[in-house]
Amino acid sequence: MKKFALLTNILDFIFPNYCLICENSVPADKKYVCPDCFNKIPDFDQKHLPVLLKRINHPCFDELFIRFQFDPHFRVLIHHLKYARCTQIAQYFGAALADILPGNYDHIVPIPLHRAKLKERGFNQSLLIARELSRIMDIPLGNTLLERIHYTKTQTHLNRKERLQNVAGAFQLVGVVRGKKILLIDDVITTGATLNTCAAVLKNGGARVVDLAAVATPTTLLQEQLERDVNGDLVSLQKSG
Ligand SMILES: [Zn+2]
Repeated sequence: MKKFALLTNILDFIFPNYCLICENSVPADKKYVCPDCFNKIPDFDQKHLPVLLKRINHPCFDELFIRFQFDPHFRVLIHHLKYARCTQIAQYFGAALADILPGNYDHIVPIPLHRAKLKERGFNQSLLIARELSRIMDIPLGNTLLERIHYTKTQTHLNRKERLQNVAGAFQLVGVVRGKKILLIDDVITTGATLNTCAAVLKNGGARVVDLAAVATPTTLLQEQLERDVNGDLVSLQKSG
C-alpha cells in the first residue's frame, strides 16, 4: 500500500490534477473538482419534494433528504465516480449530504449492490458516500444489514412502473433493526422505487424510523434526460492523474 501511495504522489507531481468541469488545476486533496465548480451545483429546492413524494407509491419511509439537483455539473461528477473510478468524489458528496442531515441515527445503511454487480464495478458508490457520512456524523455504518439478492437490470431506461417491478423482492434483511432509527443512503433518487423497497424491508424488520437521503435528484425534464444518459460516454475526461 505504501508503494502505491508513493507512486500516486509521484504521478500527482508529474501530472497535476485538473477540475473535470472547468479544467483548472486543483490540489490533490480537491482532486477532480475545484471548490468553485462544486459550489455551483444547485441545491435541491424543497418545492419539488411534493411531486417526488407523490411519485413514490405507498411511501414506507419517514423523511426524505436530498442535497442537490441533477444538473450538468453533478452529472459529470457522478459519471466519473461510477464509471471512471474517481472514488474521491464520494467523499465530497458525503460531506455535502452531512450538511443537511439530523445526526441522531443508530445506523447509516447504503443501498447494497448485488455481488455480481459489485464484482463488475469494483465498488458500491452508495457505500463510499455512506462511509464518509458515517465518519463525519460519527454514526455506525450498517452496510451488512441489507443484502441485494436479485441481480436487477440497470434502471436508467425504465419507467416508474418498470422500476417498481424491477426492484420488488430484490432486497432482504440480514441483520437486527428492531426499534432502530435508520438512515438509508443512495447516490441518486429518481422514482424512489429502490429506496422505498429498502425502507419497506427495514420497516418490516421492525425498524422504528427509516429516513432516506440521496445526493441528488433530477428536478426538470432536461435533468431527467441527463440522468438517463449517465450510462453514455464520459462527458468530460480528466486530463491526467
Ligand atoms: Zn472547476
